Amino acid sequence: MTTQEKTQNYVLQTYGRFPLTITRGQACRVWDENGREFLDFCAGIATCSLGHCHPRLTAAIAQQASTLMHCSNLYNIAPQADLAELIVEKIVQQAGKIFFSNSGAEANDGLIKLARRFGQQSGRYEIITFQQSFHGRTIGSMSATAQAKIHEGFDPLLPGFRYLPPNDLKAVKAALTDQSVAFLIEPIQGEGGVNPMSREFLTGLSALAQENDLLLLLDEVQCGFGRTGDLNGYDTIAPGLRPDAISWAKGMGGGFPIGAFWIAEKHAPLLGPGSHGSTYGGNPLACAASKAVIETIISEDLPANARARELQIRERIASWNHPAITEVRGHGLLLGIGLDISKLAIPEDKVPSIHLCSALLEKGLLVPPAGPTTIRLIPPLNVSAEDVDQALAFLKDVLDSHLSP
Ligand SMILES: *Cc1c(COP(=O)(O)O)cnc(C)c1O
Repeated sequence: MTTQEKTQNYVLQTYGRFPLTITRGQACRVWDENGREFLDFCAGIATCSLGHCHPRLTAAIAQQASTLMHCSNLYNIAPQADLAELIVEKIVQQAGKIFFSNSGAEANDGLIKLARRFGQQSGRYEIITFQQSFHGRTIGSMSATAQAKIHEGFDPLLPGFRYLPPNDLKAVKAALTDQSVAFLIEPIQGEGGVNPMSREFLTGLSALAQENDLLLLLDEVQCGFGRTGDLNGYDTIAPGLRPDAISWAKGMGGGFPIGAFWIAEKHAPLLGPGSHGSTYGGNPLACAASKAVIETIISEDLPANARARELQIRERIASWNHPAITEVRGHGLLLGIGLDISKLAIPEDKVPSIHLCSALLEKGLLVPPAGPTTIRLIPPLNVSAEDVDQALAFLKDVLDSHLSP
């Protein structure tokens, strides 16, 4: 049996997979089982921040794996303490405390628990989230996600969420009730189509949160740790924003599974002893990996590379004046190419973005879709100018060859 056949026979079929088996990676490239090379602008969905097999990351993992892989949060863990210090002092740069999880959905579940605790005294529990958001697949984070297709068939959802249109402060003001307890928002929606929030909207939410005693919870799972051209996604959009809590995962581990959330110091006592936990969360190996990733992002100034490559991508695409491209959305290396589907010849039974991503894969470029009419560019943060040139050439070829006659 091929890997593809085995996957179909033995792995639960929850994903629509492209017909590719990746067996090896190096920097911004991966290879399939037949040795064919691909340029990787998917990067494990904005996860392999340093590309594949970065020597600092592989060395940190090897070193920690042969020292102490796992113990338990019943004891102090040096790599966990070091990583928490690094994130608080160098990334958030605001007094607060970190909880380590294993994924983004788990981190967001932690934020939901924080909001519930915060609202206990006043009997409030309603968290406001935004249409097209994506917060994860656990029952909690899925209920926070305002996308019908993610909820389908899973009723009843976790109660206590209200979904509003993003970038519409008036709608938020009108929707606040004495039940409202928090806003949970992605500064740039990733899975929902690469939709950035405006500066006015984020600062407006922050002001509303302060006036009404609500928490401002940021989901930086996809946009955090340098991806947008700053160490925090919200710093790119609304510098100086003071969230009450932040969740992360994806890029913070560079491919090693780890997630986390930070809570501002004044709220940290809400989650005290016995209130939350995870067997694996913050384990020595995961924390050593994440520490190597974050230190490399800082020491190699990868946010600066993300900004430079964004500029390169925007200038090149603008120079095409391409009939099928409506806009480039996003910040840094979290970019969405918006498509005018009416200009493209796409089979009627196909989702346009997925059809084009398949064609790009055939060419030799891996990119994920973001919603039905957007192609996402989320390469490693250390991607070179040459690799960006190559990827854009593939993109232009594929769009040109799909123009309707
Ligand atoms: C991917 C993602 C999640 C879920 O993270 P998992 O690690 O898959 O659980 C949550 N929020 C955002 C913004 C994401 O992009």
